[in-house]
Amino acid sequence: MKLLVASNNSKKLQELEKILADAGIDSVQLVPLRDVDPYEEPVEDGRTFADNALIKAHAGARETGLACIADDSGIAVEELNGMPGVLSARWSGEHGNDEANNQLLLAQMAHVPEERRQAAFVSVCAVVTPAGQEHVAEGRWPGRLLTSPRGEAGFGYDPLFQPEGDSRSAAELSPEEKNAASHRGRALAQLVPVIEKLAAAH
Ligand code: IMP
Repeated sequence: MKLLVASNNSKKLQELEKILADAGIDSVQLVPLRDVDPYEEPVEDGRTFADNALIKAHAGARETGLACIADDSGIAVEELNGMPGVLSARWSGEHGNDEANNQLLLAQMAHVPEERRQAAFVSVCAVVTPAGQEHVAEGRWPGRLLTSPRGEAGFGYDPLFQPEGDSRSAAELSPEEKNAASHRGRALAQLVPVIEKLAAAH
């Protein structure tokens, strides 16, 4: 079975490839967006991660006739009622400006004491079949927000996030350590049985 991965981030494709290989699934051929006829990407105007993941997965399935997997992710800070949430990539107003997003979040949380700095990275992954059947899974990586950036690896809010049970920030973990623990891996792992079933029925 072919499974379109509706993301321009090659790391997400590699992560899913590894998870499927580790699960012994060799009947699924992952198809990157660059290998299908280009289509207009849908507007991600959902109110939740699940809404946005489903918007992307439905668009991919509709446009290509392939089963499609998509994800939406971000950081949810308890003190901010779960925000930045779906607005994580554009929290400062400029889409994808990690530096500005991080500075704004740090400023907003400047006077919040240690015991109220709980946060989690959240990823929701959705699989949509060509017939429009939906499967959704959520992965959470709990931790807390630091008071200043630490570490050089990773991307986004990684330098501000300290995973539960670790003294390092997410940007101080190796890529292998981060993949093994992260929200996206946790969401994708839950979808492995679904993908396996779809491939078997194909
Ligand atoms: P997207 O789902 O790939 O569009 O990610 C949305 C935004 O959430 C990113 O731009 C980052 O700001 C943030 N984000 C999602 N996952 C991570 C992560 O693993 N580390 C750091 N930031 C993340």
